[in-house]
Amino acid sequence: MKLLHSGKVRELYLDESYDPAQLLLVASDRLSIYDVVLPTPVPDKGAILTALSLYWFERTGDLVPNHVIGTDDVPDEFAGRAVRCRPLQMLPVECIARGYLTGLGLKEYEKDGTVSGIALPDGLVEGSQLPEPIFTPTTKAPVGEHDEFMTFDEVIALVGRDTAERLRDLTLEVYRRGAESAAQGGILVADTKLEFGRDTDGEIVLGDEVLTPDSSRFWPADQYEPGRVQFSFDKQYVRDWSSNLDWDRTAPGPEVPDDVIGVVHDRYAEVYRRITGRQWVSPTP
Ligand code: ATP
Ligand code: MG
Repeated sequence: MKLLHSGKVRELYLDESYDPAQLLLVASDRLSIYDVVLPTPVPDKGAILTALSLYWFERTGDLVPNHVIGTDDVPDEFAGRAVRCRPLQMLPVECIARGYLTGLGLKEYEKDGTVSGIALPDGLVEGSQLPEPIFTPTTKAPVGEHDEFMTFDEVIALVGRDTAERLRDLTLEVYRRGAESAAQGGILVADTKLEFGRDTDGEIVLGDEVLTPDSSRFWPADQYEPGRVQFSFDKQYVRDWSSNLDWDRTAPGPEVPDDVIGVVHDRYAEVYRRITGRQWVSPTP
């Protein structure tokens, strides 16, 4: 198989002998924080991310076509964490929807009261729910750089008005669908990032991963309390652990002890259970 792309967490392969019109998107167990991949893998993480993405692709297919072809005939070494998908020409925008204010969105708001050029009410704090979900696109930064917020006009300049509007509307629709559904499992979806591309017919298609703990911030609703940093199901636990280390947040990242990895594993499995309503069963004994 030909490796087309290796990201921090996932690999994209072309399996020419199988079908040159398909790609294989493989999620690894790697964990990255502050854009640095840590040397210690989290067991099952790739499989959980893959299962969750498939769950959401299936439940948003009426809103937007997606890249999923299936999970058959995946090489053994990738079993459970690979998806055959249609190759897309990815659009150069990270499509982010935010229902709550935190992270870089909060930082941007604190500067001038806006995020991606959208004016927000005064007085919002860490974790505040926004009056309504907003589209806060960013650039896709090359390796080693960080993504930057774009205004809607900047997205229009990049991809044209029709496409920009469609990306915005689809991003917000998928977010709303996901947030509503996750709420039933007691999860608040603070924000999420989607990636769209064009298929060979030029149609806009949802690709990459959808509403996973790697692409979203998931908070337990029963512990939600604006004004402080929220308990989070994603890698916040590892970030907090690393803040006690003498580490400058550049590569190489620190080895993570077993007990910390165990907690992260359990959090990913817990998200899976709350979202799908099914217990996570590890495919690897
Ligand atoms: P980062 O480590 O910052 O996430 P990355 O986004 O390049 O970097 P991954 O997310 O690990 O790396 O890899 C997935 C890559 O595959 C992304 O670049 C994504 O845009 C791309 N991708 C996802 N789905 C498709 C598809 N159907 N066709 C083509 N490329 C795709
Ligand atoms: Mg990515």
